Amino acid sequence: MVQMRLHAPGTRLAREAQEPPKPQAGQVLVKVSACGVCRTDLHLVDGELPACRYPITPGHEVVGTIVGSGKRVGIPWLGWTCGECEYCRSGRENLCVRARFTGCHLDGGYAGYAVADERFCLPIPERYGDAEAAPLLCAGLIGYRSYSFVGEAKRIGLYGFGAAAHILAQVAAAEGREVFAFVRPGDETAKRFSRECGALWAGDSTEPPPEPLDAAIIFAPAGALVVAALQALKKGGRVICGGIHMSDIPSFAYSLLWGERRIESVANLTRADGARFMEVAARVPIRTEVHRYPLVEANAALDDLRAGRFTGAAVLIP
Ligand SMILES: [Zn+2]
Ligand SMILES: [Zn+2]
Repeated sequence: MVQMRLHAPGTRLAREAQEPPKPQAGQVLVKVSACGVCRTDLHLVDGELPACRYPITPGHEVVGTIVGSGKRVGIPWLGWTCGECEYCRSGRENLCVRARFTGCHLDGGYAGYAVADERFCLPIPERYGDAEAAPLLCAGLIGYRSYSFVGEAKRIGLYGFGAAAHILAQVAAAEGREVFAFVRPGDETAKRFSRECGALWAGDSTEPPPEPLDAAIIFAPAGALVVAALQALKKGGRVICGGIHMSDIPSFAYSLLWGERRIESVANLTRADGARFMEVAARVPIRTEVHRYPLVEANAALDDLRAGRFTGAAVLIP
């Protein structure tokens, strides 16, 4: 099989030929049919996730079929948990102290085949093709976990309108919420795209929304957006940070937080999140916009993501 391997931070992925990996006890061998490209993969390339190991095969939005049974499954970011730590025992396996993440500690889906612990694989709703389903596995899932943190909020701001926001906007709109999309200043393509995905309003991340928000979810890795989002919030509102890495948050006046506004982060996912979101995806017809790249063009896909050259999500096809 071919795999795209990252040997060290700051380097290009190397194309390598390799025997398919051998599944260990409890694992399945999955023939990869599509693998989404996530912003986390860029953080991995940039060495911004200190816990990850190198060399590593990235990719944690993996759709494929189990060799033997032919069952279609998704392999998400959460690859293994210990089941014993205080977090695992309290229903918060997303915070497991020994958690192993796909494409970070465990080799992921930038390859022809991948192995995965069967207990952590997710079902893929039938209505989605392989490539269309790939972004559901992280962008969709983490987006949905972030969304579940905003409770009953009616007016929701989404900062950074990429793969996660384009899925979440459709889910939120289908549930009758009002979505306000904030994009890189001047990015008219992203504004148009966000309206197609159900946003009521789209504007620059530097401008205030037409009405104060009940909640904001930040997907772009820019700490300054936390302050911008706080300024856009009503009293009692929440800012949810959905990304795994963010630049430093600038200091701000306490008056912006006053009034029981909150800032929270969302980390990883639980298997229950995965099951819940796949039910939503089976019910709500989410149109994922995907841009297919051959697996061997993984570096080009990462470059295009970094430069913001497409709307929606990039997906690698082996
Ligand atoms: Zn644990
Ligand atoms: Zn991801």
